[in-house]
Amino acid sequence: MRAARLHAYGQPLVVEEVPTPEPGPGQILVRVQGAGFCHSDLHVISGELPVLPRMPLILGHENAGVVEAVGPGVRAVAPGDPVVVFGGWGCGFCDSCVEGAEQLCATPGWVGLSNYDGGYAEYLLVPQERYLVKLAKLEPRAAAPLADAALTPYRAIRLARPYLQPDHAALVIGVGGLGQYGIKLLKLLAGVPVIAVDIDETKRAVARECGADHVLDGRDPEVLAQVQSLSGGGVTAAFDFVGSDATLELSLAATRPRGKVSQIGLAGGTAKLRVLQTVGFEVAFEATLWGTVKELREVVALAESGRLTPIDVVYRPLDEINQAKEELEHGRVGGRIVITP
Ligand SMILES: [Zn+2]
Ligand SMILES: [Zn+2]
Repeated sequence: MRAARLHAYGQPLVVEEVPTPEPGPGQILVRVQGAGFCHSDLHVISGELPVLPRMPLILGHENAGVVEAVGPGVRAVAPGDPVVVFGGWGCGFCDSCVEGAEQLCATPGWVGLSNYDGGYAEYLLVPQERYLVKLAKLEPRAAAPLADAALTPYRAIRLARPYLQPDHAALVIGVGGLGQYGIKLLKLLAGVPVIAVDIDETKRAVARECGADHVLDGRDPEVLAQVQSLSGGGVTAAFDFVGSDATLELSLAATRPRGKVSQIGLAGGTAKLRVLQTVGFEVAFEATLWGTVKELREVVALAESGRLTPIDVVYRPLDEINQAKEELEHGRVGGRIVITP
């Protein structure tokens, strides 16, 4: 099969012929129809997040496709089934795994980010049938972003649910694919006013389309004062989809006492919590990670029902994966790039 592999940090991906995996007992081979190009892949490819245990590796952790073949013992899916692939694979045995938060496994085996190859390839080997969520109506390649771009904000918002009140605004910083789903889900699940912040004009326009009530320029030196004024003294929940020093500072400063800051983006910033200076009393801080299989089932159900509408998607063939990477690096992508191997 053809696959795009990373051979060394900082190098372009190499599109090449590799052996097609064969599903063993309990395993499933999925013909990939869509693999979302995630911003975190940029951090991995560049070596900023040197997490890969081996090279060459096929990246791609936001996958959907059609079941091609199943190994002995697989009962829940059959060849021909359209599926979204949960990507936070774990050991199945640690406390996080047995409690269902497998993406937080002590020894993660995340697809496309560990020893397991990912979806930038014609076929993807999935080790367990429980990682697959069947699709009824949605086209797999259109559903691929649900596996991360929608699932990750879904979990962050679910965990912040007690802080979300319709008479108080929530803050969303960073309106890439995850931030866009974040705005949609905040409106859908909690019905709160949303203030969105981004440094990019195109993204700010997209934020409005996604349903943000107020949209601010992150480069404006008055942005904090604007958030405070629009929220009547601070938001009850802030979602930082960037995670830089500057955005974490804004998130903390813009949150009122007894509120919550959720960090989702991994831009390497430090959250400085100094009471009376950078953060109010009883403000909770949580860095959330991805989502669970059950949460992915819920996200897929919302999308299948039409209540969660898709973000803009740009499709790129496998051969153009390095151009796609450059487009994402230079912020030229309004929604999500999905590779169609
Ligand atoms: Zn991702
Ligand atoms: Zn585990």
